[in-house]
Amino acid sequence: MSTTPSETEAHAAAPIPETMTAVVVHGPEDYRLETVAVPQPGSGELLLRVEAVGVCASDLKCYHGAPKFWGDENRPAWAQTGRIPGHEFVGRVVAGDPAALARRGLALGDRVACEQIVPCGDCRYCVRGQYWMCAPHAMFGFKDFDGAMAEYALVPARALTHPVSADLGHSTPRTPNRSPARCTRWSAPASGSGTSWSSPAPDRSASAPSRARARRTH
Ligand SMILES: [Zn+2]
Ligand SMILES: [Zn+2]
Repeated sequence: MSTTPSETEAHAAAPIPETMTAVVVHGPEDYRLETVAVPQPGSGELLLRVEAVGVCASDLKCYHGAPKFWGDENRPAWAQTGRIPGHEFVGRVVAGDPAALARRGLALGDRVACEQIVPCGDCRYCVRGQYWMCAPHAMFGFKDFDGAMAEYALVPARALTHPVSADLGHSTPRTPNRSPARCTRWSAPASGSGTSWSSPAPDRSASAPSRARARRTH
């Protein structure tokens, strides 16, 4: 089903409730569906109405208690309890700081996806543009920021957003994806240094070599 400009406007104008349904992580194999407050975007932040969220292999490993997420005798836990999982998502911007919208070139009703990592902008990796290596490694749904297994998701000021075409249909589940769960990160836009906070959507006509530059992160 394709979307139209009027549908975009409808997304922008729909009322935002005070509470929402969300998955909340209480620990390995203890994820609960709960009613929580809808986040209120502050300075530099946006609110998305979630349209779709992926279930990644990382989500399954975290759910089943893998030491990479919950730590062991040799490493501390990275994942946090009390978080809403979901680090691969797309949604419509339904509220936000006008300056944040302008900085990202977005308007209410626009569809965006966020990169899973929320880079600090200050560490040695971020300052040289390798934000995907960010040392603190805050990430939607796992560490420091809630994800999108919820009706709404907050986009923090440091998140990297990418516009997504409103023409991409999403409303009807299609044939289940039977390929191995994975996620990719599109190549960062060419920039001198530091972290780029927004970039154009991937060119869907990109050549195979261009697509090959997308790299797996989880
Ligand atoms: Zn993933
Ligand atoms: Zn960093």
